[in-house]
Amino acid sequence: MTTATSVFDEAIARLEELSRVAGVPDEVVEALRRPMATMSVSLPVRMDDGSTRYFPAFRCRYNDILGPTKGGIRFHPNVTIDEVEALAFWMTIKCSVVGLPYGGGKGGVVVDPKTLSPMEVERLSRAYVRAMADFIGPDIDIPAPDVYTNERIMGWMADEYEAIKRVKAPGVITGKPISLGGSLGRGEATGRGAFLIIEELARVRSLDRAGTRVAVQGFGNAGYHVASLLCHAGYKIVAISDSQGGIYSEAGFDVDSIYKMKQESRQLRAVYCSGSVCQMVEHRKISNEELLELDVDILIPAALEGAITSENAPRIKARTIVEVANGPISPNADKILSGLGALVLPDVLANAGGVTVSYFEWVQNLQGYRWTIDEVRTRLADVMKRAFAEVWALHEQEKMTPRTAAYVLAIRRLGEAIEAHGSRDFFQGQ
Ligand code: NAD
Repeated sequence: MTTATSVFDEAIARLEELSRVAGVPDEVVEALRRPMATMSVSLPVRMDDGSTRYFPAFRCRYNDILGPTKGGIRFHPNVTIDEVEALAFWMTIKCSVVGLPYGGGKGGVVVDPKTLSPMEVERLSRAYVRAMADFIGPDIDIPAPDVYTNERIMGWMADEYEAIKRVKAPGVITGKPISLGGSLGRGEATGRGAFLIIEELARVRSLDRAGTRVAVQGFGNAGYHVASLLCHAGYKIVAISDSQGGIYSEAGFDVDSIYKMKQESRQLRAVYCSGSVCQMVEHRKISNEELLELDVDILIPAALEGAITSENAPRIKARTIVEVANGPISPNADKILSGLGALVLPDVLANAGGVTVSYFEWVQNLQGYRWTIDEVRTRLADVMKRAFAEVWALHEQEKMTPRTAAYVLAIRRLGEAIEAHGSRDFFQGQ
C-alpha cells in the first residue's frame, strides 16, 4: 500500500507528467504505472545465541520489457516496500536511459546490519536467496550491492543460489569479489561514470577545468571516486563532507591524500600526503548544510536521498548540480532550482556508471571471459558519452531540462518495446 505522499507515488506522478511530454500512448503509462511483481517474505535467521529472528524482506521486479530486471539489495532498518518499488522504477528508467538490455528491479531487508555479527549477516544473506531463488536468476532478475551490502555479501548470495540450483551461475548476481567472477573496474564505476558525464558537460560548455570549483557531499564509494578523478583531471575540489561534517579550502584539496588519511584515522582531515608523510593543510570546517549552500560551480550530492528539499533549494548557489546519489533532490526542490536557472544532471544519467559495469560483469560471466581494466573503462566511456549526447541533444533541441530529457528518452524506448508487443492501434489495423 502506498500513502498520498509516498516516494513511489511521487515517482509515478513524474512518470505520468513526463509521459505526456514524451507523447507515448496511455497503454505505455498503464504498463509502467505499477510493478510487474513484488515478493514480500519473512526471513527466519538463527542468531548466534540460538534464538531465531524474523526479518521482513522484499524484491521487486518492476518491468522486464527491455530485458531481465536488475537492481541492488539494501539492508537498512527503514526499508519499506514502497521505497523498494520506487527504486525499482528508477532502475527501469536508468537502464533505459543508458541503453542497457535490462529492466529495473530492487530488493531490501528490514535490518540494521551493524547490530548483527558477521555470521548472522551471512545467514541472513543466504536466507534472502533461499526465499527468492525462484524469483531471481541470470536471465530473470539479477541483484547487486546497494546501501549496507557489499561484495562479500554478493559472494555468499551467489554461492547460495548455486547450491540451491546445483549449477555454476555467477551471472545471477553482480558486484561479486573479483575472485568469484566480479569485474575489474566495478568499484570505481559509479564515480567514473559521473566523471565522464562532467567531462562531456565541460566539453560542450567549454569549461575551464582549473577554474571550476567543485563541492562533493558524501565521501564514500561514489563520492570519493568522482572527486578523485576530477582532482586528477585538474578541477578544483574546494569542499568535501561525510556524515560527520565537511572541510573547505579555497585553494582546493588533494583528494587522494584526504582519502588515505580517512582510511587510517576514520576522520575527514584536510591533509597533503607525500610518501608516508602527511601534513595538515589550511582549511575551514563546515557543516553539511553549509557545503550544500556554497558558492561553487559544480555541486555533487553523493550521499543519500533527500539532501536538497524545498526548504534549502532557494539557498543553493551552485548553478550546476550533478546527482551522484539516487534521488538527492526532491521534486519540489527540482522545480525551485530550475526556476533559479540551475542545470541539474539527473541521477538516472549521472550515476548510471555503476549499473553499466554491473552489466559488463554479467556479460563477462555469461561469456566465461574476463575483460581487462582498459576494456571496461573504454566501454564504459562509450556508454556514458552516448547517453550524455542523446540527453543533451533533447535538452538543447526541445528545451527540456536534462532530467525531463532523460525520462523522455527512457519512456520512449520503453514505449517502443511495449508497442512492439502490439497495442490498441495495431489491433485496430492502424
Ligand atoms: P557509501 O556508503 O560508500 O558512502 C556514503 C557516504 O555519504 C559516506 O561517506 C557517508 O559518511 C556520507 N554521508 C552520509 N550522510 C551524509 C550527510 N548527511 N552529509 C554528508 N555525507 C553523508 O555509499 P555509496 O555507494 O557511495 O552511495 C552513495 C549514493 O550513491 C547513494 O545514494 C547510492 O544509492 C548512490 N549510488 C551508488 C552506486 C554505487 O555503485 N556505489 C551506484 C548508483 C548510485
